[in-house]
Amino acid sequence: TRSLVGIYGASGFGREVLPLVRAQLKSSNPEIVFVDDGSVESPLNGYSVLSYEQFLAEKAQHKSMVFAIANSEIREKLAKKCEGDKLTVLSVFAENSVLLDQVSIGNGAILCHFTQLTSNIRVGEYFHANIYSYVAHDCVIGDYVTFAPSVRCNGNVVIEDHAYIGTGAVIKQGTPEKPLVIGKGAVVGMGAVVTKDVPPGVTVVGNPAKIFQPRGA
Ligand code: UDP
Repeated sequence: TRSLVGIYGASGFGREVLPLVRAQLKSSNPEIVFVDDGSVESPLNGYSVLSYEQFLAEKAQHKSMVFAIANSEIREKLAKKCEGDKLTVLSVFAENSVLLDQVSIGNGAILCHFTQLTSNIRVGEYFHANIYSYVAHDCVIGDYVTFAPSVRCNGNVVIEDHAYIGTGAVIKQGTPEKPLVIGKGAVVGMGAVVTKDVPPGVTVVGNPAKIFQPRGA
């Protein structure tokens, strides 16, 4: 029986995720390929790059897909397409990622090396935690949330769907009565220190983080 795993996205993040998949599946040793709709030269890092149509046409008993595209809107679009085609979605956990007690995490997650989710945490679908990021106790994270490297998300924080947290951002802890909330689709800039709620859809930057108003806006 042939078993085939696709890494959707043959770009920067895809090349970082493929080795995690290879390590995770080393006992079953499936065939791994990149899947990409752009014009990416094949092979890439020694692995074939297929279009989505080519991947669907491949004859294999087991086919699954990993979504290694940081942009959450694209991730959702491609995930919905693959769900429609009844492909199995894989989650990827780096060997040294840490999950403590009572952590639930949805389908399609990618936890890169040196990431940690401590205790009593709920995470939705298609979460990406890039290298060195952490989520502390009692956080609730929605669907399609993306953490760049070294995000420090302290306890009792709620992060709504499609929020993007930039490299090195720090999110202050909330309380059980009043969690700190980062709204749907909000963007937290690199290095921001978030001390209070962030409304949906806005971008915040700086320390303390404030809503970013482009010049002339
Ligand atoms: N891509 C795709 N289908 C789409 C949109 C994007 O295959 O509908 C691919 C795109 O061709 C590119 C990759 O996804 O190769 C995204 O790479 P990018 O460098 O933008 O982001 P990252 O690797 O950081 O997620």
